[in-house]
Amino acid sequence: MSSETTLVLVKPDGVQRSLSGEIIRRLEQTGLKLVGLKLMQVSTELAGRHYAEHEGKPFYEGLVNYITASPVVALALEGPDAIAITRKMMGVTKPAEAAPGTIRGDFGVDIGRNLIHGSANAEDAEREVALFFTSDELLRWERTNEGWITE
Ligand code: UDP
Ligand code: MG
Repeated sequence: MSSETTLVLVKPDGVQRSLSGEIIRRLEQTGLKLVGLKLMQVSTELAGRHYAEHEGKPFYEGLVNYITASPVVALALEGPDAIAITRKMMGVTKPAEAAPGTIRGDFGVDIGRNLIHGSANAEDAEREVALFFTSDELLRWERTNEGWITE
């Protein structure tokens, strides 16, 4: 499996509830490498581009209001299977159905306040990382213990 870079957002409820560190800790401890990290306010325009696939759905307006309501923490995570590993750690969209041990399963109760975004596939990941990070903000750094994380 070649390396992927995926976009994660700690959504405004995660930041407001002081869960940013806990969520980053869980993802970082997998062995995925942080290559981008920032606190930011999502504009309505950025929210519209990020969630374009959901435009017209009944929850769309609420979703844009939610993601723009207060700051998010944006992360770019790199590694083999970064997209699938991140989605596994997040749990499924609806917290009531998300497995214990996942971020949504452990910290959420409402689909409209499900704490975290993670890119769904390679095409989305590429588009979303570029929406949230400039190339200058992505650091391709050497990890000294790399050989103990990937073969
Ligand atoms: N969402 C919602 N109600 C729904 C479906 C989705 O509020 O019935 C929100 C929820 O915050 C979700 C986001 O819209 O995380 C994007 O939906 P998607 O189906 O892409 O889920 P995800 O990829 O985030 O698991
Ligand atoms: Mg999605």
